[in-house]
Amino acid sequence: MSNDISLAQGREYLAIPGPSVMPDAVLQAMHRPAPNIYEGALIDMVAGLIPDLKRVARTAHNAAIYICNGHGGWEAALANTVAPGEKVLVPATGRFGMGWADTAQGRGIETQILDFGRKTPWDLDQVAEALRADSGQTIKAVLAVHVDTSSSVRNDVAGLRRVLDEVGHPALLMVDCIASMGCDRFEMDAWGADVALTGSQKGLMVPPGLAYVFFNDRAAAARAKMPRVSRYWDWSPRAEPEAFFQYFGGTAPTHHLFGLRAALDMIHAEGMEHVWARHARLAQAIWAACEAWGTEGPLRLNVADPAYRSHAVTALRIGAPHGTALRRWVQDNIGLTLGIGLGMSEPDDPKGDGFFRLGHMGHVNGQMILGLLGGLEAGMTALEIPHGAGAIEAAAAVIAGR
Ligand SMILES: *Cc1c(COP(=O)(O)O)cnc(C)c1O
Repeated sequence: MSNDISLAQGREYLAIPGPSVMPDAVLQAMHRPAPNIYEGALIDMVAGLIPDLKRVARTAHNAAIYICNGHGGWEAALANTVAPGEKVLVPATGRFGMGWADTAQGRGIETQILDFGRKTPWDLDQVAEALRADSGQTIKAVLAVHVDTSSSVRNDVAGLRRVLDEVGHPALLMVDCIASMGCDRFEMDAWGADVALTGSQKGLMVPPGLAYVFFNDRAAAARAKMPRVSRYWDWSPRAEPEAFFQYFGGTAPTHHLFGLRAALDMIHAEGMEHVWARHARLAQAIWAACEAWGTEGPLRLNVADPAYRSHAVTALRIGAPHGTALRRWVQDNIGLTLGIGLGMSEPDDPKGDGFFRLGHMGHVNGQMILGLLGGLEAGMTALEIPHGAGAIEAAAAVIAGR
């Protein structure tokens, strides 16, 4: 369905949960001729990226950069720590937990999946039970997705560490922070994660194509015990390169690195605490609007408890076919692109047309979020989807700090 006049011209907002909005500073940093990869500015720059990346992950330990997307980051974490035939525990709260488990299976790793559904966080008692039941301590790692981008559930990583410690289980705690790093508070060292990984294209505001894998000394010790690690995935030379090319296992991803430099400059100029506080406030504005709409109509936040909602992505249920119709309407009429309802199909909605997601990660601010919410209100009005009043006022009050 189309409006009488399209208002889609102008600067668009890609409000999907990755790739996220790219800052002009990142785009401009990448707009340059191919640099020399043998000597000069690029080589000097890369050494400085590593400490600034570690500050984003809140770790004093090791960082390795891979030329791949998040799926490659999953492979990298596993390739260095868990051998084929060994076992991992996967507490899953959506499609991405299942996806990491699937990657492990593809490597010949045995997976024990604890499926907590698509609306609620890990039940840490059940995780503790599974770890206790592993009396032989054959579980080598727990594969934990901090924010599952499909469900927008945010899990308690520090709590999972406490469970491992209480049970006295030596499994590595490996955390997928692809959707959360640079958005939701994540403190690798303070929270006791042994491995953390993320991708370039979400909170880090660079095009897809890089994965960053952080690992501590326990994880490095697990690497040392591996029977073999394929050359490309081996994180040891990448984290301690004797030669520039060892950082990347070959040619450097030149332009991504210039983009990353610009993105890290922006993040650290703002400050990690402020980055997290900004994402939290913007998410609260979204929740306030959605709750108001939901008072009279079908829109519902997928995660009921605010304590377990991501600050970077919001999954919403509105009933088929409204989810898809709303996405199409805002795309065609106001230049706003929403995320699809990934992995949220149900027996009476096999294509997941009743769901959609809002990406609010990275380079987003108050006016963008108010525009996003105003756009949803316009779309629901145009499509005659019932919705409660006062949503924009409620969001504005949050933005105003009231
Ligand atoms: C986006 C995402 C992935 C997958 O990353 P790709 O770059 O698409 O491979 C994995 N896990 C989480 C939590 C994500 O948000």
